[in-house]
Amino acid sequence: MDKTKRYHELVDLVRRYNYEYYTLDNPTVSDADYDKLYDELVSLEQELGIVDPDSPTNKVGDTTLAGFKKHTHKVRLYSLDKCRDYSALASWMEKMKSAGAKNFCLEYKFDGLRITCTYKGGKLVNAATRGNGLVGEDVTAQVRNISSVPKTIGYKGELIVQGEAMITLSNLASYNASHPDEPMKNARNAAAGAIRNIDPTEAGRRNLDIFFYDVAYIDKPLETQCQYHEFLIDNGFHVDEFFYHSSDIDSILSEVKNIDSRRNNLDILIDGAVIKVDDIDLRSTIGYTAKFPKWAMAFKFEAVEKTATLENIVWQIGRTGKITPIGEISPTELAGAIVRRATLNNIGDIRRKDLKIGSKIFVRRSNEVIPEILGVAEHFPSSREIVPPTKCPCCGTTLIEDGANLFCPNKKCSNRIVDSLTHFASRNAMNIEGVSTKTIEALHEKYGLNTVADIYKITYDDLLELFSPKDRRKEAVKVANISRSIEASKNVGLNNFIFALGIDGIGEKTAKDLANKYHTLEALMQADYDSIIAIDEIGDILASNIVEYFRNPDNIKMIDEMKRSGVKVADYSAVSTENEYFTGKTVVLTGTLSGYTRDQATAILESLGAHVSGSVSKKTDYVLAGVEAGSKLSRAHELGVTVIDEETFNKYIGK
Ligand SMILES: [Zn+2]
Repeated sequence: MDKTKRYHELVDLVRRYNYEYYTLDNPTVSDADYDKLYDELVSLEQELGIVDPDSPTNKVGDTTLAGFKKHTHKVRLYSLDKCRDYSALASWMEKMKSAGAKNFCLEYKFDGLRITCTYKGGKLVNAATRGNGLVGEDVTAQVRNISSVPKTIGYKGELIVQGEAMITLSNLASYNASHPDEPMKNARNAAAGAIRNIDPTEAGRRNLDIFFYDVAYIDKPLETQCQYHEFLIDNGFHVDEFFYHSSDIDSILSEVKNIDSRRNNLDILIDGAVIKVDDIDLRSTIGYTAKFPKWAMAFKFEAVEKTATLENIVWQIGRTGKITPIGEISPTELAGAIVRRATLNNIGDIRRKDLKIGSKIFVRRSNEVIPEILGVAEHFPSSREIVPPTKCPCCGTTLIEDGANLFCPNKKCSNRIVDSLTHFASRNAMNIEGVSTKTIEALHEKYGLNTVADIYKITYDDLLELFSPKDRRKEAVKVANISRSIEASKNVGLNNFIFALGIDGIGEKTAKDLANKYHTLEALMQADYDSIIAIDEIGDILASNIVEYFRNPDNIKMIDEMKRSGVKVADYSAVSTENEYFTGKTVVLTGTLSGYTRDQATAILESLGAHVSGSVSKKTDYVLAGVEAGSKLSRAHELGVTVIDEETFNKYIGK
């Protein structure tokens, strides 16, 4: 094809995709495909030596949406130059070093909607989207509804801070659990949709958060990015706990690799890392291109969104009887793994996304084990409608449609029982080690378990009889272990027990909130709707589910049976004990501990009544430092916060 013609075609295409992505929040191509087109556009511009005045390489992509008041930014908000490989990043840092840079700062590149907040006299006076960098949308009313954004701050001068509006993945999950009819499909669109919602209270309802990371303007400037980072924390802005700085190029590179390897375990969406020259004065010497500051670089991780073909739908029956459609997709590489299945919420989700078998779809790797289907990229004449089942694929019972969901109403449905037992036995529930789904299926098939309580009626001999006589000797040790862990699981914390029951919509967080409010199982079982819905994050549907669950005679009987089998649910207050070192103290963890994971150490500290925080400030009482502790340790030393090692930690907790 004629290269000039291809060039103009690309200009139009990329502009359209920019509009869909930034303005409509409704992309029709994957990030990976977009990046490919953009790169092709840039290389054609270089090759042909032309730049169309309308070329997206000329200007920052996003534009403002009609319906909002315009806000002219006091200072231009640049987008960042991007690179995708480590050698390009290293040579950029070398270049900065020869321009005089001594120190670099490293932060997450958040995948949300960029927001600036203006403060005057210590009061929040304006919030705006970035728009095209010069003019954005006034979203002050929306941002005022975000509880984590400070409305008053200690700094009384004029200040413009930058942050990213996002929904944490755990908040997204709990929102979706209490709004099963209208689940939000992904965190980025959900955040952008709330900020750009004409109803300003939507931002509060969706539990939006803004993670602040920079100062765009201040009447009394500081000297370094590190100082701005501390300034934001000291003024009460929500700052992500990750912040790293170093003068050493290799240390920065290896920290970027660390981020890449853990990014799918974070509670927020990030799509890269941002590296900045720390010295603010030096930045003006280094300067800007027409589009980017030269003193900052975004390192983009491999896109986690791709297109694939939807080949089939299988219908999975969960413990509540809810039928979840699972999409079987053409094998697709997503961030290093080959993926063949992707999740959909329910039949309503399929209809809303207008999915058809044989169509091209977008899949995105999410925080879940299996990725999600975002929507349709393209239908073909051969695409087929998806026909939902009318009878349960497991037990043949006629399905019930409730809102956007299909349910198998048969409580004895094998798939439902096996799934509730698998959940019941899982690590954060009753923690019955060694009991796999396969074991549960075998037990169910042989002994016909009806409820989770039946697991405590299984004896050592019953377990042994799952195996053929000739295998029993060989499997005896394994069976003894399972039998022991069933026994050990009978002593359980209230929060774990609530979670284990598998009440519809109750995750670990809600289980903890309930335990925290009611302290004993008996009090929770008696609690009424008004008392439950008074808990901050529990909505109408969830509160009704809980009340219904504990009013159901079958469930009361099942809990009684478990108690008779020796299950002892510890009172929640009895779990927390006074500790002379940690009760009421704020503790920050950093580095790697040899005897505990981060989660375990956090759980121990919280059970002793400590508050575990993500960032070190003057209010921190202790920093617990493992090996390879980073910036938090140096900050603790700067502020004179007491640093303890793992040995001291063990001593303090009485181990
Ligand atoms: Zn069934």
